[in-house]
Amino acid sequence: MIHTAYIALGANLGDPASTVRAAFAALAELPGSRLVRSSSLYRTAPVGITEQPEFVNAAAELATGLEPEALLDALLAVEQTFGRVRAARNGPRTLDLDLLLYDDRQLDLPRLTLPHPRLHLRAFVLQPLAEIAPELQLPGRGSVAAWLPAVANQGIVRL
Ligand code: ADP
Ligand code: MG
Repeated sequence: MIHTAYIALGANLGDPASTVRAAFAALAELPGSRLVRSSSLYRTAPVGITEQPEFVNAAAELATGLEPEALLDALLAVEQTFGRVRAARNGPRTLDLDLLLYDDRQLDLPRLTLPHPRLHLRAFVLQPLAEIAPELQLPGRGSVAAWLPAVANQGIVRL
């Protein structure tokens, strides 16, 4: 069974644009998976801890045979290969990969919440996602495009 997953990519250490491009390539190589769409890269201001470099963010659509938890494990493994050091939450990171949506699956496990609980509140997630899937429905919340005005005050620039 092939599923549709949307993934948020973010980086703000080293050369973040190169990291995000390399991460797209890594997603395309995941077992049983195909990279269907990739968004442009976006430059965004950090959220939370503001004294850190700007982020580069993007979104990807993946067709995958991996089940949600196996996909999360694969994403965390890719983060590791990019040398992510887990320190402060919302702090600097070489690469962050979040699983945003997996079909219309809703999950609330200790290590995996679907849809990603903050996706509709963040311009750095919504804007790239809207570029590749504007009509995509967030379970119980309407379309991605419908949420964009709510985050219009958050700084984000397409590269
Ligand atoms: P964040 O992405 O919120 O800045 P982390 O990348 O450090 O923080 O993620 C912390 C934990 O969040 C991960 O170890 C993972 O188990 C959990 N998690 C829960 N739901 C998701 C999801 N939808 N996508 C990615 N990680 C998730
Ligand atoms: Mg994450």
